[in-house]
Amino acid sequence: MTKILNAQKFYDGFKNKLKSEIHSLPILALASLSIGKNYSCQVYRASQQKLADEFGVKYLSVELSETAPLKEVIAKIKELNKDKKITGIVANKPFPQGISEEEIFSAIDYRKDIEGMNPYNLGLLFIGEPLFISPTVLSALEFIKMTGIELYGKEITIVGFSTLIGKPLALILGRKFATVNITHIATFESKRLPFYVKNADIVISAAGRPNLIKGAWLKKGVVAIDVGIGRKDSKIVGDIEFESANKKAAFITPVPGGVGKLTSLFLFKNLVDAYRKYENV
Ligand code: NAD
Repeated sequence: MTKILNAQKFYDGFKNKLKSEIHSLPILALASLSIGKNYSCQVYRASQQKLADEFGVKYLSVELSETAPLKEVIAKIKELNKDKKITGIVANKPFPQGISEEEIFSAIDYRKDIEGMNPYNLGLLFIGEPLFISPTVLSALEFIKMTGIELYGKEITIVGFSTLIGKPLALILGRKFATVNITHIATFESKRLPFYVKNADIVISAAGRPNLIKGAWLKKGVVAIDVGIGRKDSKIVGDIEFESANKKAAFITPVPGGVGKLTSLFLFKNLVDAYRKYENV
């Protein structure tokens, strides 16, 4: 029978631990930047703000217009870098077309880069010595841990090759001696996605395509970790078609209430780490 991985118990314990840790520190401040309006970004920011209020962390919301030129975005980030009151900065994806993700993340001071997206931090992750790992990745890994499954020698298919999710997951899981297949839009377009999904012991999807992955593609007893957040018929859904996947999987994460639920908590864990490592630089 499928076990729907319920994050609530972990969530409650982790949140209480973070709360007491944050209360033992001077007031921390999180700057959260977005460019233009996007549904999943708004959901993520709302949960950041809610937790900041609960934790007593200052939350500085920076909302730039969709038409803001890159120069203006970079200037704002540099201002936040210099502000000694700011402990950590998150630049929330997605960005409008034509705005370079790399340039934005490169502008964030690596000591305040609590999503681990600055090239320096990505380089440290590459060599296995990360300072900050993307909170989404930490959340997905936590769900795998909840299953108790030994990763050594397992076959894992990751759907999505972004610097925020797919790439760091592949590096981390490869280092744990899983055999990792990374798939992306071209795998889908060449109709090879079902092949890679059906051979996997663990499928992690972060494509942002509602109900992309069908239960019929999955191996019986698979662990299905759904990172995607999308909307279908005005409902929030993931990349993995829940009803059909639920019949095949040994473990599955729901959307909403799965990976996304823990992501914001891990963001605050990284904020605490930023303070402990660098105080407010
Ligand atoms: P992105 O657009 O940067 O990357 C998407 C990746 O998916 C790309 O590599 C692309 O090639 C691949 N892809 C797109 N369509 C595909 C298809 N049909 N088949 C196979 N691969 C396909 O996006 P991102 O920032 O990595 O976010 C991905 C998803 O994760 C989004 O739904 C986003 O909202 C969600 N997200 C969730 C959390 C969370 O906490 N649950 C956090 C951040 C992002």
